[in-house]
Amino acid sequence: MNEEVDFQPQHAKDGRAGDPYECAECTNPVEPFLRSDRMPHIWCPGCGIGTTVNCFTRALIDSKVDLDKLVVVSGIGCTGRVAGYVALDSFHTTHGRAIPFATGLKLANPNLTVVVYAGDGDLSAIGGNHLIHAARRNIDLKVICVNNMIYGMTGGQTAPTTPEHATTSTNPYGTFEAGFNLPHLVDAAGAVYVARWTTFHVRQVARSMQEAFKKKGFSFIEIISPCPTLYQRRNKMGDGLDAMKYYKQMSKVKNGAPTGEVGLTKTGEIPVGKFVDRDRPDYRSLMVHQFQESLGEEYVEMGECSCS
Ligand code: SF4
Ligand code: MG
Repeated sequence: MNEEVDFQPQHAKDGRAGDPYECAECTNPVEPFLRSDRMPHIWCPGCGIGTTVNCFTRALIDSKVDLDKLVVVSGIGCTGRVAGYVALDSFHTTHGRAIPFATGLKLANPNLTVVVYAGDGDLSAIGGNHLIHAARRNIDLKVICVNNMIYGMTGGQTAPTTPEHATTSTNPYGTFEAGFNLPHLVDAAGAVYVARWTTFHVRQVARSMQEAFKKKGFSFIEIISPCPTLYQRRNKMGDGLDAMKYYKQMSKVKNGAPTGEVGLTKTGEIPVGKFVDRDRPDYRSLMVHQFQESLGEEYVEMGECSCS
């Protein structure tokens, strides 16, 4: 097959004004940020991933990030599809490897705002080591983790984030292993910004994304999101609307809470809020400093990437 691939976003193909922030013809402000030619999307009715994309575009609109310097990197899975749906420079990479791919982009061109948009299985299972070490090294990445507590795309298997006693396709009698507390994991590893919200908290999600855009260093936003098709159904938790009611009822805002205390259970309280906001030098600043110290005048700072 020798099919020509058209990488132009829908906005450009339609011949509309080049700036999605100023599209007078668009009936919905989110529209210019999506590749309409890829619609309908693959997400199931009631899935929360689309809600997170809406929050992301709202955050872009409100923060006016330079879209020419913004990159979205996804891994594999239902959330991994985000990279294909946004009309931005984006990369749909291999399973678990969104963070190393994004790290390379950021180090090669430090002027980019690099967003990693991935699911809980992708980031904390096969990509778990990358997550830990990117936080430890304080790579300047904005990681958006859509956590539906299960492997969605592959059939609802137990993930590292699945809470104890939840029913999954691989644990039909209930899970019995402790799930990861992701905010605690990345906090302990050294992330400078850590927040958790649910897809019910759309304004808070968008605000956290805006804060992450401004933050230098490893930022991590966990968004608890329903998978009605696999997780909700198997655990008799209703549909997408029931999930919103559940999130509203069970969420408790705990800004600044010690992350060791924000672990999730199957039906218990969902602590949400901004847990960590601190400053420490990011990887590249430390690298440049080290090279300058060691090499003195021999060290030449790399300029901005000139590739188009
Ligand atoms: Fe969303 Fe679950 Fe459907 Fe995947 S399987 S699109 S996570 S509802
Ligand atoms: Mg998942």
